[in-house]
Amino acid sequence: MLPYVSNQPLRLSPSRVSEFENCPQLYKYRVIDQLPQPPSLDAERGTLVHTVLHDLFENAPADRTPQSAIELLPSRWQAQMAEKPELMEMVTNEKEWFDRAESLLRTYFTLEDPQSFEATHRELHLENDFSDEIYLHGYVDRLDVAPTGEVRIVDYKTGKAPKPGWEEKALFQLRVYALLYFKTHNVLPRLLQLIYLGDGKVVKSTPTLTDLAATEKVLKRVASDIFASIEKDYWPPKPSRLCDWCFFKSICPAHTS
Ligand code: SF4
Repeated sequence: MLPYVSNQPLRLSPSRVSEFENCPQLYKYRVIDQLPQPPSLDAERGTLVHTVLHDLFENAPADRTPQSAIELLPSRWQAQMAEKPELMEMVTNEKEWFDRAESLLRTYFTLEDPQSFEATHRELHLENDFSDEIYLHGYVDRLDVAPTGEVRIVDYKTGKAPKPGWEEKALFQLRVYALLYFKTHNVLPRLLQLIYLGDGKVVKSTPTLTDLAATEKVLKRVASDIFASIEKDYWPPKPSRLCDWCFFKSICPAHTS
């Protein structure tokens, strides 16, 4: 991604929005300053499992089995390491690494039967010129269009489902995708589905036009806050439990001053 240039539209995505909402200072490090970060093993495991679930649908329905998914792991991991050779040193116990990925894939098959449907789109890029100043986009793990025309948007998570009461926050990402799909296809998706492979839970929601209008409002408010931060060069750190996983903790003013 190019560094932010003030006369270009602001690139907004669900992950950028939550990053700014969680901590403006972190957003600055990542998006404005574009400071490099080493790969995280959790994120890389997520990428590996996502790749396998993506490629599984290349198989004929009868061959979409737990075993065929597990057999994809070594070759997809090789390809991932070829792109990021530093991963080779980070994964010291390959058996343990594959066992964990295998367990996540086995959990997937307890939640869905990929032999029973076709995945219409995988890794679908949705985008929209939201306004003269905002370009909104996102990558959808899977978008299924049923023979009836009904649309289901699916996102895989390798972590655990949110605690009761936090589902709405988790659904924001999929509501942004629903909004993007609605703006580009004029079709309101029927179902949003978050599949949590970490604990085998599924969070579902049927979006309404009211939900999409509320999502649009949040996006505009966050964009306006980001523009204000850029203008004032004001990026307050927001310490939270996330700090323990933040690569920039050693240079963050909340922890160094
Ligand atoms: S250490 Fe915490 S407060 Fe500082 S940038 Fe990271 S998340 Fe934000």
